Amino acid sequence: MAASDPFNFPQQDLHRHGGLVVDAIERMRSSGQLILGEGVTRFEEAFATWLAQERPPAAVVGVANGTDALELALRGCGVGPGDRVVMPAHTAYATTAAVLRVGAVPLFADIAATGHGIAADHVRQLLQEPGPRPKALIAVHLYGEACDLAELNALCDEHGLDLIEDCAQACGTLYRGEPVGSWGRFAAFSFYPTKNLAAFGDGGVLVVNRPGDAEAARRSRFYGWDGRRQAVQFGVNSRLDELQAWVLLGKLDHLRRQIADRRQVARWYRERLQHLASDGVVLPADGPDWEHSYHLYVIQVPCEQRDRLLQEGRSKGLPLAVHYPLACHQQPYVNERFGPQAGLPRTDERLGRILSLPLHPYLEERQIDAVCASFLALVGRVVTDAELAAAPGAS
Ligand SMILES: *Cc1c(COP(=O)(O)O)cnc(C)c1O
Repeated sequence: MAASDPFNFPQQDLHRHGGLVVDAIERMRSSGQLILGEGVTRFEEAFATWLAQERPPAAVVGVANGTDALELALRGCGVGPGDRVVMPAHTAYATTAAVLRVGAVPLFADIAATGHGIAADHVRQLLQEPGPRPKALIAVHLYGEACDLAELNALCDEHGLDLIEDCAQACGTLYRGEPVGSWGRFAAFSFYPTKNLAAFGDGGVLVVNRPGDAEAARRSRFYGWDGRRQAVQFGVNSRLDELQAWVLLGKLDHLRRQIADRRQVARWYRERLQHLASDGVVLPADGPDWEHSYHLYVIQVPCEQRDRLLQEGRSKGLPLAVHYPLACHQQPYVNERFGPQAGLPRTDERLGRILSLPLHPYLEERQIDAVCASFLALVGRVVTDAELAAAPGAS
């Protein structure tokens, strides 16, 4: 039996583009290269062009996954054991895992007042506190939104921090008309099967924006070897798989279209749900100087209704989710290592309000219709219950 959940993007994607795997094997048969061959080189070049036609990055280095790309970015900035790294508490845990992997200490900042990015005002406050100066700041472009890059970049310059962009969820997000990934000293992309550009397995790239960093970054994914296969620096083994590189090269042709399709699904949602604003529901939208790539469609609902909407929706077969139930500073392992951390009020509040509706580029208008009809029915019932509870005489 073929698995085919219409809301499951990796399954739908494999169904439509699985033939690329067969093509990839053909290409590898004719090149004779199975590791760091023509596929990886061609994908790295194509991705660099895709990122910036006019001013491509200094290097695009294919690596095994997005977490490794972040790790190598941190190492490229000279971040090591005990160094502090400013990062948002509200992100996929992978961002924290990379910081811990290099032995650094995450300094968690709150969420911005609007949008879901790191709050520049709280970062500024953290940088004024006593203690060793952090080495780097990771700006996570969460859900496909862009962070306030101009402001964060100015802050980093002012305080001597390196900026790293975590673009794992933001492949195709435009900031001032250009794909994100060019502002940081390094940027990390993931091609995990749910991401906007998805491999049929694991993959990632490290984007290098300073020419002086390019050689060291390339060597860092392959034992620290130079061209003569002598170890001249620290390195790991984190190579983008040749087969996945060929798959990604094929899928890159469809990426622009797929981002446009994601944006179309978001428009369908907006048409049907925008009147919920009066019920305290906030829908995602483009920012003043950026365009959403809609990796996820995360709405905000009143916190007293969220868990109920989630549970009742799921029990009726609506594929709702919460990205993410715990912020990084609330993860048990982080607490065990660094002790409980207080003082992130906006993050704590927002986590109770977020709810993800299904979005991927293959969804059709009738499916969004059905999702919205069920969701509106759910919200209607919750509102009625709330009204009942508030009515005079209710116990
Ligand atoms: C997916 C993701 C990563 C890690 O990517 P992997 O390829 O799974 O290692 C890092 N950061 C964010 C924000 C992510 O969503």
